[in-house]
Amino acid sequence: MPEPLGTEALLALDRQHVWHPYGPMPGRQEPLVVESASGVRLRMAGGPGEEPYELVDGMSSWWSAVHGYNHPVLNQAAQEQLGRMSHVMFGGLTHEPAVRLAARLVELTPDGLEHVFLADSGSVSVEVAVKMCLQYWRSVGRPEKRRLMTWRGGYHGDTWQPMAVCDPDGGMHELWSGALPRHVFADAPPDGFDAGTDAAYAAHLEETLARHAHELAAVIVEPVVQGAGGMRFHSPEYLRVLRDLCDAHDVLLVLDEIATGFGRTGALFAADHAGITPDVMCLGKALTGGYMTLAATLCTSRVADGISSGEVPVLAHGPTFMGNPLACAVANASLDLLLSRDWRTEVKTVGAGLSEGLAPLAGAPGVRDVRVLGAIGVVELDHEVDVVAATRAAVREGAWLRPFRNLIYTMPPYITGEDDLARICAAVRAAAREG
Ligand SMILES: *Cc1c(COP(=O)(O)O)cnc(C)c1O
Repeated sequence: MPEPLGTEALLALDRQHVWHPYGPMPGRQEPLVVESASGVRLRMAGGPGEEPYELVDGMSSWWSAVHGYNHPVLNQAAQEQLGRMSHVMFGGLTHEPAVRLAARLVELTPDGLEHVFLADSGSVSVEVAVKMCLQYWRSVGRPEKRRLMTWRGGYHGDTWQPMAVCDPDGGMHELWSGALPRHVFADAPPDGFDAGTDAAYAAHLEETLARHAHELAAVIVEPVVQGAGGMRFHSPEYLRVLRDLCDAHDVLLVLDEIATGFGRTGALFAADHAGITPDVMCLGKALTGGYMTLAATLCTSRVADGISSGEVPVLAHGPTFMGNPLACAVANASLDLLLSRDWRTEVKTVGAGLSEGLAPLAGAPGVRDVRVLGAIGVVELDHEVDVVAATRAAVREGAWLRPFRNLIYTMPPYITGEDDLARICAAVRAAAREG
């Protein structure tokens, strides 16, 4: 083992050489150093001259660590698979971890999704979804159907095609205007999981879709929760509206469940709230319980058969680390673990704790809205968050949060207990006050 760097040296090298998400180079905000993580706690190194300390994790490492960290069952799955092979190429070879996982995902996801492409990150799974849809229409003799429709407020990842269907007002579109493909945007869906259908909005979706159907390959949306585009919730009824419209106008429907999948919204998949099957579904984030990067794109037999009947009868995509056995083995163990526990009650309990703990913020100065769905809690401020001040306030209360724009939000691991939830809520309240 090399000598530890020491916090000061580590931070200096980090600043000099290492990009962080959406960060400048060199970094302007000092990141906190994590030494290890276990259960729902991150063990922090402490700044130069500071003692190590612990934080309760309010972020599940961006939706993914649903079982918490350093879990014995997931560790064991990883170790056993390491002893066999951590990776082999997937071209011309196959293996049990990937096959088992694919069959499992087919079984768990809405009926009709039959075929699985294992990709190495959420963004890539969205690229694959888009490629599937475009190639489908090409193969069935309608190559002009190659645009996408979405609604505003969405987020689908940072690579090229996903970026082109992210909310156009997020800045990325202005930065890349002229370079990004230009897709069709409907207005953002009206707020509120329980709000029912707004007839005028449904008519707007219909009008937009009908006008462009001749050139549309697919509609792509995040079902029920729009995540990194603004942490907004909408009625599942709009998913049924979209399903019907897509059927009526011969357009495919892609649901990006990368954030919502595996129970986070209170249903195993957000599509289940609406009882619909998309033509294509993307999964990622919690797929490996936060251990490793892995994603999946599922599609129906109609889509797969269409692609395979074309002039080029193959899906032309194949990443080097496709179907990585180590990630698949951990994903299988994570799914076993999730389904072996009463995840529905766990998610409800976390949601109830968040509702109670965040309630005092409703109507507080600077707070525009407080909302909870499943195990997701969101505080929307009427101003941009001062991330440094908000993080400092949360850390003082003993929890890790990562606010963005005007949002302080939390999606704790499902196993978070009452006291730790209370601490997360105290941190959100402090961050809202001081951020
Ligand atoms: C995080 C996310 C992505 C991108 O996944 P990465 O693994 O970060 O590439 C895509 N869509 C949604 C809805 C996400 O939340």
